[in-house]
Amino acid sequence: MLIDTFGRVATDLRVSLTDRCNLRCTYCMPEEGLQWLAKPELLTDDEIVRLVGIGVTALGIEEVRFTGGEPLLRPGLAGIVERCAALEPRPRMSLTTNGIGLERTAGALREAGLDRVNVSLDTLRPEVFRTMTRRDRHRDVLRGLEAARAAGLDPVKVNAVLMPGLNDGEAPDLLAWAVEQGYELRFIEQMPLDAQHGWTRDGMITAGEILASLRTRFDLTAEDEGERGSAPAERWLVDGGPARVGVIASVTRPFCRACDRTRLTADGQVRTCLFAREESDLRGALRSGAPDEEIARLWRTAMWGKKAGSGLDDPSFLQPQRPMSAIGG
Ligand code: SAM
Ligand code: SF4
Repeated sequence: MLIDTFGRVATDLRVSLTDRCNLRCTYCMPEEGLQWLAKPELLTDDEIVRLVGIGVTALGIEEVRFTGGEPLLRPGLAGIVERCAALEPRPRMSLTTNGIGLERTAGALREAGLDRVNVSLDTLRPEVFRTMTRRDRHRDVLRGLEAARAAGLDPVKVNAVLMPGLNDGEAPDLLAWAVEQGYELRFIEQMPLDAQHGWTRDGMITAGEILASLRTRFDLTAEDEGERGSAPAERWLVDGGPARVGVIASVTRPFCRACDRTRLTADGQVRTCLFAREESDLRGALRSGAPDEEIARLWRTAMWGKKAGSGLDDPSFLQPQRPMSAIGG
């Protein structure tokens, strides 16, 4: 098991497959100038499958989410999914993607064993999408979403971040659209994880504001009050259900006490938290020929050092050196 000093057990592994991306979302990346990891620094497909295997067979990992950067940019993605699906016990597998390229790949990923997908889409307006992502790819994302649904990936979730003055008035429209399309929408509070360190608490839209905006058009009833468990999203039934909406209030209502996550960066570092400032190197051990048992021991030691919380509310809080795209969101 991966257990920490507070008794939390990690069963959910986030694997970043690349730090690169074909969008430049303003809350995530600068327009230019971000240094990518060099290819030899990235874990190979074999190394990723081996680490996921150790996680699943020796450390109690039950759920694997592939992310990035943009994971669809990784050429071997379907092969990685297929090989992870063959592990015993088979982990549940999901993907967080911006959806560009999903139109072509959703079927193959489903066949390879992918169970679920989260597609990030912040706006229904192509021109706002262009401003927020600095790329003109809105239509590709919508097509990717449709392909995911057609391929039988279930549920298809949509992640949205609201930004003041850009899409903060769009929450009810996004929800009406998601309900109609059969996608489960989740709003994520903007976190201080952008490469350009531009986040401010005053400049973010809070969960309270998101809910107030949604309630101007929808009746929301808390679905699982008191039973949120380790799920980061608090969920509400929309107009009595069955449609739901989630809000991930990482900043204003953190869920650290129930956190069940461990993270692996694209260059093979274990991180116990998005906001951690420490990393533990598994790639070095892998490449120096360490046996599985030694790698599992290093991973357990890293987990034991997991901090109680993100430290966001601490006046001495320092944003991690790596941006979200390099940690794996
Ligand atoms: N490129 C993929 C995507 O956009 O879905 C996967 C990686 S991205 C880092 C994962 C998620 O993190 C996306 O839903 C994105 O909107 C979210 N995200 C990125 N930067 C964020 C920030 N500063 N605060 C909150 N969420 C953020
Ligand atoms: Fe790329 Fe995802 Fe970051 Fe947007 S949020 S720049 S799509 S990694």
